[in-house]
Amino acid sequence: MTAQTIGFIGLGNMGGPMAANLVRAGYRVQGFDLSADSLTMAAAEGVVPAGSALAAAEGAHAVVTMLPAGAHVRRVWSDLVEAVTPGTLLIDSSTIDVESAKVAHASAEARGCLAIDAPVSGGTGGAKAGTLTFMAGGTAEAFARAESILKAMGRSLFHCGEAGAGQAAKICNNMILGISMIGVCEAFALGEKLGLSHQALFDVASVSSGQCWSLTSYCPVPGPVPASPANNGYRPGFSAGLMLKDLRLAQAAAGSVHATTPLGAEAAQLYALFEGLGHGSEDFSAIIGMLRGRASGGETP
Ligand code: NAD
Repeated sequence: MTAQTIGFIGLGNMGGPMAANLVRAGYRVQGFDLSADSLTMAAAEGVVPAGSALAAAEGAHAVVTMLPAGAHVRRVWSDLVEAVTPGTLLIDSSTIDVESAKVAHASAEARGCLAIDAPVSGGTGGAKAGTLTFMAGGTAEAFARAESILKAMGRSLFHCGEAGAGQAAKICNNMILGISMIGVCEAFALGEKLGLSHQALFDVASVSSGQCWSLTSYCPVPGPVPASPANNGYRPGFSAGLMLKDLRLAQAAAGSVHATTPLGAEAAQLYALFEGLGHGSEDFSAIIGMLRGRASGGETP
C-alpha cells in the first residue's frame, strides 16, 4: 500500500518534531516553512521539502498547519482551501483565537473539506517524544479521520465539541495554569519571608488543599521537583512569552462572550509586566523573581 501523503506547514520548534514523528509513523510528509533553516532541519528528519505552502499540500490526503497566530492560519488556509481537492482533511494545531479558528473552519467547509482545530499541550518535549495532548474541535467525521494522524504525534486525544472547541479548551486550561502558577509563586515568596523552607511548604501543600500541577509537577523553586525548570536556570519549558500569548487569547475570548475573568485579566497583566522587564524568553515559572520584587527569576533567596 502506498503511504498516505501529509502536507505540513510551519516546521518551527513544535511543527518540526511533529512532522518528523509523522515520517517515523510511515507517512510521506511534504513540508514548507518560510524559514530555510527550519526546512533544512525538517528535511534531515525525512520531510520532503516543498517550495510553498500550496506545493506542500499538492496531492496530500491531509494538511497540518502549526503557525504562530490566527492571522497566519487565516491567510494560509484561505489559499489552501482554493487549492486542495474537496474531501481533504485540514488540521490546525497552532494556538490561535477562537474566532480565527471558526473562520478557518467555515472557509474549509465551504470548499467541501473536513477541518479540525487541534491545539496541543506538552510543549517542545512532548512534540519530540510524540506524547502531545490534542484537544480538537470540529465534526465527528473530521475528528475520526484525523485520529490516526494525531496519534502519530501525541498520546491523548480529546474531541471537545464543534468548530473552535479545541481552542476554547486550550485557552481555558492555560488560563488556569497561568493563574495557578502565580498563586504558587506568591505562596513560596511569602513562605520565604516567614522563614519557611521550600521543602517544608512543598511537603505540606503537595498533599493538602493547595495541591496543583504548578506545584507538584512544575515547582517554581529549585529542589522539590528535580525536573522543573527552576532547577535549570529557568530555561523553558514553556516560555513566559507563550504564556502571555495564551492569557491574551483567553482575555480576547472572554471579552467576546462577556465572561468575567478577573484573575485571568490580572495574570495577563502580570505576565505582560514580566515580559516588558525583558523576561519573555524565560520559563513562565521564573515570574517568582518579579513577585519577590527582584529583577530575575533565577535567583534564590
Ligand atoms: P515557532 O515560531 O518555532 O514556529 C512557527 C513556524 O511557522 C516558524 O518556523 C515560521 O517560520 C513558520 N511560519 C510562519 N508563517 C508561515 C507561513 N505563512 N508559511 C509557512 N511557515 C510559516 O513556533 P512554535 O513554538 O513551533 O509554535 C507553533 C504554534 O504552537 C504556536 O501557535 C504556539 O502558540 C503553539 N504552541 C507552542 C508550544 C511551545 O512550547 N513552543 C506549546 C504549545 C503550543
